[in-house]
Amino acid sequence: MHVIVCIKQTPDTAARVDVKDGHVTWGDAALVVNPWDEYAIEEAIRLKEKHGGKVTAISMGPESAKEALKTCLAMGCDEAILLSDPAFKGSDATATASVLAAAIGKLGTADMAIVGKQAIDGDTGLTAIAVAALLGWSPLTFVSKIAELDPAARSLQVERLQEEGKQVCAARLPAVLSVVKDINEPRYPSFMGIRKAAKAVIPQWAAADLGMDPATVGAAGSTVKWPAIYPPPALEANVEMLDGTPEEIASKLADRLMANKVI
Ligand SMILES: Cc1cc2nc3c(=O)[nH]c(=O)nc-3n(C[C@H](O)[C@H](O)[C@H](O)COP(=O)(O)OP(=O)(O)OC[C@H]3O[C@@H](n4cnc5c(N)ncnc54)[C@H](O)[C@@H]3O)c2cc1C
Repeated sequence: MHVIVCIKQTPDTAARVDVKDGHVTWGDAALVVNPWDEYAIEEAIRLKEKHGGKVTAISMGPESAKEALKTCLAMGCDEAILLSDPAFKGSDATATASVLAAAIGKLGTADMAIVGKQAIDGDTGLTAIAVAALLGWSPLTFVSKIAELDPAARSLQVERLQEEGKQVCAARLPAVLSVVKDINEPRYPSFMGIRKAAKAVIPQWAAADLGMDPATVGAAGSTVKWPAIYPPPALEANVEMLDGTPEEIASKLADRLMANKVI
């Protein structure tokens, strides 16, 4: 089996996100593999361990995203490719999906693509469906278990996690899966894996390598625009320390909560 895992580099979840001059900033916070993508990487590696074959990690992003791809190699992915081009800047979810689909098409031998449930920055959850639609592959989102997979018969059966419960879906390969955190427990990169990744040379594909017209990607190829980006209004909060015995404090607190119609 050849499994592709799509990963996005995002600011660390602890990052203090801010807006300066209409641009989102996160100061010098660390850039990490999008937390939801760790489950996608782990599931791809487990499929390889069970069915043989290889795992290729791909990411669309700036040069810095090579560090995120090195984490994939350190965890056990076999190859990694950075999709990077100034023309990709300003890509909305569909434009991003078109670049990922073009890369998967160029690789040509994939049986499955796995992505995270969502990216913690863009947060649309659209990418999996858009990539599947562009490739004409089976879209399976919020997958919490791959119950059956028969690469030779080109079939799989998965459990999808929904608010009401689990849905069992059968589909044909090739397929694009988005996975939720219930699917596995991501492994830590091994020492040998980290050493191998540190020496890895990660190829970089631009729009031309993907046969893509720059006008169809980036801001030019995006239908969604961000006309304005501004931080949410700062919450005015004033704190009052209640004093007295625990009983007195509890009674004062109840009065305050009732006075403010909280209770
Ligand atoms: C007007 C506009 C301008 C934007 N400008 C930028 C910009 O300049 N730079 C920028 O980084 N983002 C930009 N974005 C956000 C960018 O469009 C989204 O982050 C990206 O398309 C993915 O969508 P998402 O974050 O909602 O991911 P989701 O659909 O929530 O992600 C689901 C999964 O898809 C995969 N995935 C998502 N993005 C990538 C990727 N880039 N590479 C590989 N796999 C991926 C991951 O597995 C992820 O878990 C812009 C968005 C808009 C609307």
